[in-house]
Amino acid sequence: MKQIIIIGGGAAGFFCAANLDDTQYKITILEQNSDVLQKVKISGGGRCNLTHACFDPKELVQFYPRGNKELLSVFTKFQPGDTMDWFDQRKVSLKIENDSRVFPESNSSQIIINTFLQEIQQKKVDVKTKCSVKEIEKKSEKYSVKTSLGDFEADFVIYTTGSSPKSLKIIENLGHKIIDLVPSLFTFNIKDDLLKDLAGTSFEMAETSIPKLKTEESGPLLITHWGLSGPAILKISAWEAINLAKMKYHFEIEVNFVSKSMDEAEEIFQNFKQSNPKKTIGQSKIFEITNRFWQRVLDVSKVDLNKQVANISGKEMQKIIENLCKKKFQVTGKSTFKDEFVTAGGVDLKEINFKNMSSKILPNFYIAGEVLNIDAVTGGFNFQACWSEAWLIAQDLNNL
Ligand SMILES: Cc1cc2nc3c(=O)[nH]c(=O)nc-3n(C[C@H](O)[C@H](O)[C@H](O)COP(=O)(O)OP(=O)(O)OC[C@H]3O[C@@H](n4cnc5c(N)ncnc54)[C@H](O)[C@@H]3O)c2cc1C
Repeated sequence: MKQIIIIGGGAAGFFCAANLDDTQYKITILEQNSDVLQKVKISGGGRCNLTHACFDPKELVQFYPRGNKELLSVFTKFQPGDTMDWFDQRKVSLKIENDSRVFPESNSSQIIINTFLQEIQQKKVDVKTKCSVKEIEKKSEKYSVKTSLGDFEADFVIYTTGSSPKSLKIIENLGHKIIDLVPSLFTFNIKDDLLKDLAGTSFEMAETSIPKLKTEESGPLLITHWGLSGPAILKISAWEAINLAKMKYHFEIEVNFVSKSMDEAEEIFQNFKQSNPKKTIGQSKIFEITNRFWQRVLDVSKVDLNKQVANISGKEMQKIIENLCKKKFQVTGKSTFKDEFVTAGGVDLKEINFKNMSSKILPNFYIAGEVLNIDAVTGGFNFQACWSEAWLIAQDLNNL
């Protein structure tokens, strides 16, 4: 029987093993840690956001700053609907939340782990933990995988080590090109009077842009203790991960807190002024923002909160609207988003055959998961890439 060695007992490695035909192969997973599936365990705050209810591959790829072109064909073969069916067939109830993220009904990642463990137990997959792969050597038709527990011989290698630099070195030594690793998905550190002591204030729909990079995003926004977070920030951090690293995380960002153009905002303000001339500006609800934030905007715009709306000058109105719709901030660093770090960079996608996730350089060698130069914004997309890629590998090997 031919021997498959899967290097890395994470999401991609396990999904691959769970879909392989064990009547055809002897399958072994090598994992350096004492526990497998550790990232699945902590994912989604312990709830595991395992995919996203977006069933059109063309729409789905829009969430991947790196890998969007390549994943299109992968998702036409296995997409979130297939992931949900796969778990449904294994009696794992899933739920779709309002923002389309998919979680186990039990709100616990453990059910996903248990399902994988059951699957691979039935398939008699051998799992070796505390087994760190140090080097891989190509030996005529086979591979010799050198580990802390000795050497393993493989007819096929499936490389799913995640983004550890040490493991990227191993694959680089085999001839693969590695694109430099940089963090993706982070929040922006900003010190500014407009945000001070307002941590927790959120905006339903904001627009963010980085003028120097001519890039913009929109979505919910959140003020944190350190600056700004929320999808409108995380998305821009992912799409511009490489450029922002080059700028050493020092740049100017422009924020529109109310998603209205200056002209629209002025019209809304004028209409309010006409119908509520006697109201004090501090107590006026002109835009969909919290009272605290509105009062801070007035404060920063140097407008007296007790002034009647009718007495607000054109200059004062302009200043207020500028702070709401076109506020410039200096970003002076980045912070991790809820401990959820994803890296851009990894094995160069040009060297992968996306029909089956095989290496174009090494025969009988497959690569999947975060080790590739693929990453997504938050929402279950990173796992979906793992499931789809791993499924393709299993299908390819099962059909040999
Ligand atoms: C806190 C956190 C929360 C997250 N939440 C979500 C979420 O809810 N939804 C989502 O879609 N994504 C989430 N992500 C991202 C997601 O976890 C990753 O994209 C995904 O785990 C990548 O899977 P993988 O199999 O490629 O790598 P990993 O899951 O990292 O697995 C790789 C495995 O290989 C092992 N390994 C590495 N090198 C060697 C070696 N030399 N020898 C032996 N073993 C080795 C590692 O120990 C590891 O177990 C989250 C990430 C973090 C950090």
